[in-house]
Amino acid sequence: MKKTPFKLSISALMVASALALTGCNDDATSNKTTTAEVKASQVTAQDAAKFIADTEKELSALYLEASRAEWIYANFITHDTAELSAEVNRKMTEAVVRLANEAAKFDSLELDYDARRKLDKLKLALTLPAPQDAEKTAKLSQLVAELGGIYGKGKYCKEDGSCLSLGDMTAKMATSRDYNELLDLWQGWRQVSKPMRPLYEQQVALTNEGAKELGYADTGAMWRSKYDMPADDFAKELDRIWGQVKPLYDSLHCHVRAKLGEKYGEDKVPQDQPIPAHLLGNMWAQTWGNIYDVVAPENADPGYDVTELLAEHDYDELKMVRGAEKFFTSMGFAPLPDTFYERSLFTKPQDRDVQCHASAWNIDSKDDLRIKMCIQRTGEEFSVIHHELGHNFYQRAYNTQPIYYQESANDGFHEAIGDTIALSVTPGYLKEIGLLDEVPDESKDIGLLMKMALDKVAFIPFGLLVDQWRWKGFLR
Ligand SMILES: [Zn+2]
Repeated sequence: MKKTPFKLSISALMVASALALTGCNDDATSNKTTTAEVKASQVTAQDAAKFIADTEKELSALYLEASRAEWIYANFITHDTAELSAEVNRKMTEAVVRLANEAAKFDSLELDYDARRKLDKLKLALTLPAPQDAEKTAKLSQLVAELGGIYGKGKYCKEDGSCLSLGDMTAKMATSRDYNELLDLWQGWRQVSKPMRPLYEQQVALTNEGAKELGYADTGAMWRSKYDMPADDFAKELDRIWGQVKPLYDSLHCHVRAKLGEKYGEDKVPQDQPIPAHLLGNMWAQTWGNIYDVVAPENADPGYDVTELLAEHDYDELKMVRGAEKFFTSMGFAPLPDTFYERSLFTKPQDRDVQCHASAWNIDSKDDLRIKMCIQRTGEEFSVIHHELGHNFYQRAYNTQPIYYQESANDGFHEAIGDTIALSVTPGYLKEIGLLDEVPDESKDIGLLMKMALDKVAFIPFGLLVDQWRWKGFLR
């Protein structure tokens, strides 16, 4: 995970609540389209250039303030730091909403590529655009909060009165191998969503209205417009790429189904039907790595354990980070700044609450790079550090760009860079850095590859279908 520049750090909730404060700045009796038309006839390309320069300045300053506040909140979780960080986020969101709507006055103007692109980026910065109507935007804000609340507090309560949180159930889904227990958990969690349906329908209707005001057919079309191609082409491109991966997924599916059939019986896992989703080790069947023990190929143990190797070679948290940094400097990247080591969080503090989920930050959009992570001395975490530093080196690579371009090539790319880098923590690499004496025979790679496929290949159709489902939900 990484902390993004202004664009993606705006939560839907904040967008909506800020709109509630700003949506009615115009004369209540004036009609938005007419206002825009009148303004549009008066503005020039010079006005657009000045508008963009001003917004870059305003948003840069706000972004710096917001990332400082967020960093402090994530590292010292208290009532006050939460309030301060929410307040500055609200301020930033309010500014983005205001500017995105102002940007519409340049819609019909001939502009150079660069100016048009920046204005488009500003318009697309909202995830759930609300209509410019105070009542409706307040309603959308309330729906987002309510849906989040139901999901976050959601519990499955059994007839005997005992209740399980999503966290409890996630742990059981990963480790239980009891068919009926898993089925019960899967179905139990899905009771939580039932009251969400009517709220979700209202949310869809309201945000579609907002997207239409910004000039998109619906919110799904707006989301698909972020990829430098027409919205419909993006959906087709995803289908094309998925077609390339599908044969590999089909093979994985076939193997996993056969192994699950051996484990649970072919009456429970029919070999000519889809796999019962509750047997895949995850509440959404989105990654299958938790059932590696069930589907592991024979004799695939590589004969070493990175966690043990780290201990044998006296790797503490700092040495793990230095080791990961060396991966990047060995490819010719400049070392991280001293401030990275002074300001990052590497170990879980004993005396206060922090967000332990690993994240990578660039506080000032220049070179104030940091990670925040409660590092454990395990092989898994050693890979995660490589992943996080992947974000940091990527952030640094675009730090001379204007703020509108200070982001990954598209919104999937940042994680992809991190994950690609983490893929390089191979036996060969471990030998090179002196952790492993001898690289195991290539035949041992099959276990590592299977683990990777269970998490990464299985996720691809899941991720795609979630987006396709949501796009369909926005079609009205
Ligand atoms: Zn990441």
